[in-house]
Amino acid sequence: MLEEKSDVIEKEYEIVNKKITYEELLENIAKLKNKEKIENIWYLIYQYYKNDSNWNKKLNQDLEGLKYTNLPQKLEQRNIEKLYGNKLTTSISRLEKYRNCPFSYYLQYGLKLKEKEKLQVHNFDTGSFMHEIIDEFFEYVNQEKLELAELEKEQIEKIVENIIDNKLTLNKNYIFKATEKYKLLVRRLKRVVSQSLKYIIETIIYSDFSIEGTEVEFGENGKYEPIILNLEDGKKVEIKGKIDRIDTANEEDGKYLRIIDYKSSSRNIDLNEVYAGLQIQLLTYTDAICKQEDIMPAGVFYFSLLEQMEKAEKRISEEEIEEKIRKAFRMKGLIVADVKIIKMNDNTLNSGSSKLVPAGLTKAGTIHKKWTNGVSSEEFKILQDYIYKTIKDISKEILSGKIDINPYNKSGKTPCEYCEYKAICGFNPRYKNNKYRFIDKMSQDDVIIKMSKELGCKK
Ligand code: SF4
Repeated sequence: MLEEKSDVIEKEYEIVNKKITYEELLENIAKLKNKEKIENIWYLIYQYYKNDSNWNKKLNQDLEGLKYTNLPQKLEQRNIEKLYGNKLTTSISRLEKYRNCPFSYYLQYGLKLKEKEKLQVHNFDTGSFMHEIIDEFFEYVNQEKLELAELEKEQIEKIVENIIDNKLTLNKNYIFKATEKYKLLVRRLKRVVSQSLKYIIETIIYSDFSIEGTEVEFGENGKYEPIILNLEDGKKVEIKGKIDRIDTANEEDGKYLRIIDYKSSSRNIDLNEVYAGLQIQLLTYTDAICKQEDIMPAGVFYFSLLEQMEKAEKRISEEEIEEKIRKAFRMKGLIVADVKIIKMNDNTLNSGSSKLVPAGLTKAGTIHKKWTNGVSSEEFKILQDYIYKTIKDISKEILSGKIDINPYNKSGKTPCEYCEYKAICGFNPRYKNNKYRFIDKMSQDDVIIKMSKELGCKK
């Protein structure tokens, strides 16, 4: 006749022994401070500990502790001026960082707090290393006037091998040549970069696009002017940055642009994150170049530099493996959903899903909505306008001294997971006013409607 009970959802307090009951008393006092109702028994228990000479001192100390708050104050005007002056010079990734959590932005870029650097081999940044190799590969191809379409797999491997070996010999910072573990890492890097390059080349030769530049900079000495926006009270924000690769295509109706970002992880564009200001980099750069050069946008893409392995339930042929891997290397991102633009990005596509970009066409030659991660040119324009509003909003918040501990939470994913400032902020969602900023999960259409409404209200 025993009845099973659980206090997982609704905590039930039990008076068990002095130590546990004392902890529960503190929890109840905290609840009371948050104006929650508690059972009457806890008033008696409080009297009990208060009158007990062994517990009285600890109780007083802990009651003082309950007054503690980790919430930061807004910065004072004179300190804001010392930190940023009247012009905020920044990058889009820093503004995105502010939207990740304003307090971590303040610690990293305001106070410039850094973890003590240790010279460790595992600090080697494979992501930037692979970027460099890819850039040097295209430089070499240019110098040697090689035709991308004619490059054989073995030739790509040889060029990559030479570039990596030269780099390791010339740069003494690459201390990882010494051990077997790192020889293995070098072999893996050669394999991943060669494999990636094979598919990067396909995205160029089977499209109307050609590479216009790699590691392209926005800034005083860059190819493009920095992005400067005027805020209120004579304040300004100046944005500098770098783009991994820009491609252009000359068509009858004008010039088109697409931006490619190499990632050493798998990344896609989620308009909910764009709306929240967490993913605005590629769209901002696209807009800035389009305006500076009078070009039309065709899309923004991520190319993942990850070694792709495929599982198979049954024995499959070499061709099938190749198809699966090619699919895994397909660029992710956002395309301008127009049949002409899709075909410019993949000129082998007549119907079905593209092997190169996130788009597909029906048998009738119209856009296949399910296979296409895209927006119309009008919607792309709304995204671009909204991003400028976001940049201005974030900059104003920074320059107003707002440094809230307010990390985002997207379906359980938060920036706190890998944040090096955890020990400083002491964020705990159970503390009063320690709250996540939850990111909505809206459909793409709903995000665009919301953005256009907000822009409309502004106008
Ligand atoms: S741990 Fe979380 S709340 Fe604390 S600074 Fe980092 S991101 Fe912000």
